[in-house]
Amino acid sequence: KKYPESYDSYIKRIEEGYLAVPSAESALAASRDYATHPHLAGAVEDFQDAKDILAFFQSEFGIPAPATEPIYPAGSPESREATLSTSSKLSKPAAWVDIYYPVMNTGNADGMVVELLGESDQPIWKADLLEDGDPRDETAAKYKHFIPPFHGFSAAGEAIGQLVYANYGNHDDYDKLVGAGVNLTGKIILARYGANFRGLKVQGAAERGAAGVLIYSDPRDDGSVTVENGYEPYPAGPARNPTSIQRGSVMYLSVYAGDPTTPGYPAYENATRVEATNIPSIPSLPLSWANAKLLFEEELGGVTEGTKLNGRVGSRKVRMVNDVDAKITPIWNTMAAIPGHIKDEVVLLGCHRDAWVMGAADPTSGTVSLHEVTRGLGALYKRGWKPLRTIVIASWDAEEYGLIGSTEWGEDFADWIQEHVVSYVNVDVSASGSRWDTSASPSLAHLIQRSAQDVPHPTDAQKTLWDAHFDVGPYEGPMDAEFARMWDTKTSSEPRIGPLGSGSDYTVFLQRLGVASSDQGFGSTPTDAPYHYHSIYDSQMWQEVYADPGFHKHVAVAQNLGLLTLRLTDSIILPLNTTQYALELDSYVDTVIESTYREEILPDLFPLRRAIAKLQDASLKLDEEKTAAEKAFRKALKRVSRAHNPRIVRRIIQWIKEHLGIGAQEVQDLRFGALKWMSSVTESSFSETQICKSRGKGTLCDFIRAAKRVRAANQKLMAFERGFLSEDGIKDREWYRHLGVAPGKHLGYAPTTLPGLTEAIVYDEDHELAEYEAARLTTLIENLADFLDV
Ligand code: GLU
Ligand code: CA
Ligand code: ZN
Ligand code: ZN
Repeated sequence: KKYPESYDSYIKRIEEGYLAVPSAESALAASRDYATHPHLAGAVEDFQDAKDILAFFQSEFGIPAPATEPIYPAGSPESREATLSTSSKLSKPAAWVDIYYPVMNTGNADGMVVELLGESDQPIWKADLLEDGDPRDETAAKYKHFIPPFHGFSAAGEAIGQLVYANYGNHDDYDKLVGAGVNLTGKIILARYGANFRGLKVQGAAERGAAGVLIYSDPRDDGSVTVENGYEPYPAGPARNPTSIQRGSVMYLSVYAGDPTTPGYPAYENATRVEATNIPSIPSLPLSWANAKLLFEEELGGVTEGTKLNGRVGSRKVRMVNDVDAKITPIWNTMAAIPGHIKDEVVLLGCHRDAWVMGAADPTSGTVSLHEVTRGLGALYKRGWKPLRTIVIASWDAEEYGLIGSTEWGEDFADWIQEHVVSYVNVDVSASGSRWDTSASPSLAHLIQRSAQDVPHPTDAQKTLWDAHFDVGPYEGPMDAEFARMWDTKTSSEPRIGPLGSGSDYTVFLQRLGVASSDQGFGSTPTDAPYHYHSIYDSQMWQEVYADPGFHKHVAVAQNLGLLTLRLTDSIILPLNTTQYALELDSYVDTVIESTYREEILPDLFPLRRAIAKLQDASLKLDEEKTAAEKAFRKALKRVSRAHNPRIVRRIIQWIKEHLGIGAQEVQDLRFGALKWMSSVTESSFSETQICKSRGKGTLCDFIRAAKRVRAANQKLMAFERGFLSEDGIKDREWYRHLGVAPGKHLGYAPTTLPGLTEAIVYDEDHELAEYEAARLTTLIENLADFLDV
């Protein structure tokens, strides 16, 4: 082996070492550990899992378990120190648990009612509100009634009214019904899952005066694998079990995320709490297809396809009771950190841990992938690797209720995150179907594509993970036409890395704090076994038989997450492509134009186009500087690390000792001492003038200059995404501050790009507001161009 080893060969060796660690055996074992008991946020099992993951982090990174467990109430000096030290003085890996105190609700099975009332208001039919569970699946059978079907943050109470069928219960659906003269006041809305985030179904209903909402799982949304198409329902076959019920949060996620009582600031135990404005005022309940079908048949004139039933009003009354209790409940984020040579640049990686019930896919598959990433990084660490930048790993809690663990931590350490976090890598469900999909900030698109091309396909040796973007499931059969249309709009011949909306833990980092973020995992296609999302049937058995037999998808996602993390931490120049972002902005403006059919509402978009062009120019210049700085740095690094002149070597070591306080003993170490300089070299503390003044050149002087150049470029790259933030935030939902992308106001999961401008045009249809939004965006992008300019 050539000594000293070149940086590229070192990186290659580290990456190969990493990729060899994640394994299907280990993933399967971890999944069997985590997914065979319920772990609802705030419950004892969830706390036990938080501690188990703490112990796992400790053992993987060789952290001795301290005498008192490092479990800290958020806001305590210990908790704050644990996070803050990761970017300053941490010298060895650390792991800890932060406790936040949000308000959350739980359901009481005995008190829940959905019934049809007869002439004199006596019940003539009562929904059982029960999932059968799989009798052969031991744990799923044992826990089948453990968590009653209910909605997180749903309002407690009773509602009595006629049933109205509202299709998906999205903005358009409600508008159409009201437009057609259907009176929603006092009604109970029956809406199917799908199309938008469930909380927005309730929000739309409440805003239009409805008394309550029932949301059910419709087999029409299951693609081709349905009973009608001849498939047996699970567990006998792959089709949806008709008793499965989708739990889930009905928070008004587009308003703000996190604990409803502490918007924008951390939910410490003694926090001042406000009246929540992001949760419903009317009750809602989730229903199985088995129960909903009866309501269709008895009240709405039968079960038909298409839109015929939209707006159909029942003749009798339905009574529903949502029996939930809300209270302040502790939740636990388990955290680990591996300090890098450059401490003050941090790569954050996370997955949530809490599930509605067993959650074998959601989120255990992601947690298992994170488990394998941790094993991989732990193995490297034990072999002496130290990342160039610091890595922080998070097992978030209470994602299911409304991204609470990640959001509270994000709000707690907002300034620190904005100063130090270079990127957030999210995973949630890593295996629930056949197609690998990813969404990300445009600046990360190239990085993700390259890493996915360097990871083997889970089952086809001829392909890479990137190719899995086109995979479909094993089943075929006729498909509901409406569903096929929906699916078609999502497919294209080129894999595309689209922007992030919401529905998982990246939200606070990207959309409030401006951190470039990504998300990925294997999800459903219309020819996969339907995924029993948030139901008792999302179990280990279903995972092993249908979602990822052999557990290779879990591994492929782990390999890709780790590779991404390694490239974010160990690249000299941060692998963020601002030019790609600047180019995509033009297509965002095209989308704005396409989204209106009333041209008179459009503002003058020319100044915005001009600002985007200016940003593109600045970014292209930065690209040149990135290349030049890296080249200069590598050259200087090579000279430093190959310096033979003993006088120079002595002088360099002397400098490292004096200024960085580390005892570099050999030339190999110099590289890292040198890399560490990137963070220590500042105008005031580390004197370029001092070292360069004697002759104005020389190994050390060149090196310091190159390191400063790299550092300056990286500071711009890291802060680029912050440039999209506006202190004023998005109109009517100021918690969201990113003017480039937000969860769509009426979509929830799906993103809306240029949200302020788009929504002013599409929803407000307000020309003046659109002018204001366009001007605000133009200024922001001009400032960003000035900031990037080198
Ligand atoms: N991922 C969870 C869900 O889809 C939580 C989303 C949220 O509340 O933002 O229900
Ligand atoms: Ca909060
Ligand atoms: Zn999840
Ligand atoms: Zn979920």
